[in-house]
Amino acid sequence: MSLNGKDTKKLKTQPDKPPSVRVQLNALKLPTLKNILRFNHQNPFGNKAKLVVRILYLLKHGGYPRCPKCKYGRLKRRLHRRKDQSKFYCPGYPSGFREGDSFIHCNYTTETCEKESFVFDHSLNIIV
Ligand SMILES: [Zn+2]
Repeated sequence: MSLNGKDTKKLKTQPDKPPSVRVQLNALKLPTLKNILRFNHQNPFGNKAKLVVRILYLLKHGGYPRCPKCKYGRLKRRLHRRKDQSKFYCPGYPSGFREGDSFIHCNYTTETCEKESFVFDHSLNIIV
């Protein structure tokens, strides 16, 4: 974020400008942030700082969609791609949240994947 004269001037002439999303998120409690992530079917684990960063990232870049085959896995981008592999794959999903629960494997792969846009529950009154 640049603090050149132009931006400062703009802020002064718009006193009703809402605080940044980061500021709004930091004002929320941890369980609320977790709910925002759950609402978007995203990973809700981590401390407050991590959750805020994750939400801001998803807001900007969107999240990967759920696997259309198993319905539970979330598509991932293949980082080290070989010639015969598709760009995105489903890593599968754990059958439960406890340690030792079995992992359900899925072999879905795709070349294209539309990211989902991140949304806030209207009741939170977050101004983006
Ligand atoms: Zn899958």
